[in-house]
Amino acid sequence: MTEAQPIVPIVVAEGDGIGPEITRATLKMLEAAGARIAPEFIDIGEQVYLRGHSSGIESSSWEKLRRTKVFLKGPITTPQGGGYKSLNVTVRKMLGLFANVRPCVSYTPYVDSLQSNVDMVIVRENEEDLYAGIEHRQSDEVYQCLKLISRPGCERIVRYAFEYARVNGRKKVTCMTKDNIMKITDGLFHQVFDEVAKEYPSIEANHMIIDIGAARIARRPTDFDVVVTLNLYGDILSDIAAEVTGSVGLGGSANVGEQCAMFEAVHGSAPDIAGKGIANPSGMLLGAISMLVHIGQADVATKLHNAWLKTIEDGIHTGDIFSDRVSTKRVGTEEFTAAVIERLGQNPVKLTPVNYVGGASLTMIPQVSETKPAKKERVGVDVFVHWRGDPNDLGEQISALNGDGLKLTMISNRGIKVWPDGIPETRCTDHWRCRFEAITPGKTVTVMQILSLILRVGNARFDPVKTEHLFLFDGKPGFSLGQGQ
Ligand code: NAD
Repeated sequence: MTEAQPIVPIVVAEGDGIGPEITRATLKMLEAAGARIAPEFIDIGEQVYLRGHSSGIESSSWEKLRRTKVFLKGPITTPQGGGYKSLNVTVRKMLGLFANVRPCVSYTPYVDSLQSNVDMVIVRENEEDLYAGIEHRQSDEVYQCLKLISRPGCERIVRYAFEYARVNGRKKVTCMTKDNIMKITDGLFHQVFDEVAKEYPSIEANHMIIDIGAARIARRPTDFDVVVTLNLYGDILSDIAAEVTGSVGLGGSANVGEQCAMFEAVHGSAPDIAGKGIANPSGMLLGAISMLVHIGQADVATKLHNAWLKTIEDGIHTGDIFSDRVSTKRVGTEEFTAAVIERLGQNPVKLTPVNYVGGASLTMIPQVSETKPAKKERVGVDVFVHWRGDPNDLGEQISALNGDGLKLTMISNRGIKVWPDGIPETRCTDHWRCRFEAITPGKTVTVMQILSLILRVGNARFDPVKTEHLFLFDGKPGFSLGQGQ
């Protein structure tokens, strides 16, 4: 007698717009394929925001998510402005879902796409970068968003990408950053990538600057295998890749953490087609298929994915991928769902069938090395002031505040050095960075010296809006120079 397979509890949220239509369709296909799951439903998105929960999720839902550890999530509409936080970002960060994994595959000749034979996976860092959402307005003219990057965060995602490549038999990992400009933050990601790549000599590793990398993904996506990148770049790249392969309606994604995982479509709530019964449920279905692999139901995942491939191959297409040239029938969400269910047990003939049984799981928990504390010395401070006027006047007035071991060495505006020796063509805003360093080179500076400097700046009727301390770490500067310095 075969042992009864366990039923796995999962949390399901239908979401907004087309979310309910595609979620119900996906659950119907999962059930017909024999998925051994027990869905527990929660509300997320617009209705929850409107009930006054600024995060788009009720606190009672966290208990279900933390208990089941598996979340199948429909797309949601994030209201613009009004202090609402992105639910997606909140869930990823609260549950520690550090890796966003998006396979991008073309299905030529059955789905029109800009490029054929594409089979790449974008591994996006999911917790850091500008998505920390720490933003401030500091003057009449200037607003800032902090880009936070950590060494463990870089190492975890880079190791994940190499492990993913190794266990899935992939040959190459490409890292994309903008470290020619952001030498400290993106530079760290690139440096960690180079370090980790050495541990995987059988996997080809290369680095590209994000702008040319994105252009190449659009033009020659077949050059890529696994791509690993920071949060914002990964967000943009994965939509480019989804478009290149046919439709955003075809992309599924997994958000993976040490404890929990969340599965979803790459697209949003598509309010323009909501309620019309024409949405393509494929992105959500492919997300759900990754979920089945994750919860140990590779047999069901294989059966469902192959039935879906056969449906696509038979030309039964929703409007977003319909084309007179390759499609045989234009269908709505329900008819497409029925067509997949009808084909359960069949394999595609021309497209390559999948087989997840005995394959790799998505959940790899990379061991991250401990960051050794460095010798840290405070050697100066950048005092940002809100002020209107000419940089030479500012230089003259602020350098009059030199003393107590500190002196003004540079003023920059939006990162460009404007004092000393600025040029009149540089357009300045009302937000100035005044860099003070130790008068005696090499002498460390105390917090008290800095506080008394800020007091002098304030008493001289400047408005200090922020400070950044300048540190040497093991003798190396932990700060960038002003452009032109
Ligand atoms: P979108 O992805 O919702 O839609 C872009 C275009 O693709 C639209 O023309 C839409 O009709 C089409 N499309 C998307 N999914 C489709 C599908 N399954 N079948 C057929 N056509 C499909 O992007 P948007 O319009 O920029 O965003 C709408 C809302 O979704 C916004 O509030 C945004 O914040 C949110 N959003 C949510 C998620 C998420 O929940 N993971 C992701 C992206 C955007």
